[in-house]
Amino acid sequence: MKRKEKAERIQTMLEELYPETPVPLDHESPFQLLVAVLMSAQTTDLKVNQVTPELFRQGPTPEKMAKLEVATIQSLIREVGLAPTKAKNIRRLSELLIERHQGNIPNTFEELEALPGVGHKTAGVVLAQAFNIPAFPVDTHIHRLAARWGLSNGKNVDQTEKDLKAVFPKDAWNDLHLQIIFFGREYCPARFHDLSQCPICSWAATKKRINEEAKMNKPKSKKSKRNT
Ligand code: SF4
Repeated sequence: MKRKEKAERIQTMLEELYPETPVPLDHESPFQLLVAVLMSAQTTDLKVNQVTPELFRQGPTPEKMAKLEVATIQSLIREVGLAPTKAKNIRRLSELLIERHQGNIPNTFEELEALPGVGHKTAGVVLAQAFNIPAFPVDTHIHRLAARWGLSNGKNVDQTEKDLKAVFPKDAWNDLHLQIIFFGREYCPARFHDLSQCPICSWAATKKRINEEAKMNKPKSKKSKRNT
């Protein structure tokens, strides 16, 4: 099956499975979304949603956040990983938003990526979810699934993003970003499972992926390590 045909079938399935695509990170403004996405690196959305109510009560806007001490921000977000770095970035980013953008959130990759702690994926999520600008933010989970489904053989997330943008229609990119994440969370254990039981891999998995899974499922000596 050609890559494009696969993509069409996957898109149809994902639309049936996830007709609604609610944004997983709680927020009430583009600024709060930006801060929440920045905090979501190396932690779960659930954890971020647990700390943001108090963080956004004390620092709902760039102006108010910039007035908080870094130590205060750090203590409010201490339960998310990398809190010291994230706290510094949140404070500095708030100051820069005031200096450069009158407290508004810019809506271009270039301006967003110039802010501390904001990489390409974070910028893409903000553009997609705050401004409805088509982007296809690719994290490691989407990167892995795109490879397993044979939609990309990209060695890195940048190449995978290009491949996915080439096979899916632009007006579906923002929804697909979330639909693939939802599917991964619901269906994809990290390792050791039966591909034939999966709604997508049962027909879309690459031969390489099928062989890898078969190898992983073979009994191993006690000392051997399991890798995905
Ligand atoms: S077979 Fe496994 S990895 Fe592939 S999509 Fe299904 S659950 Fe995910």
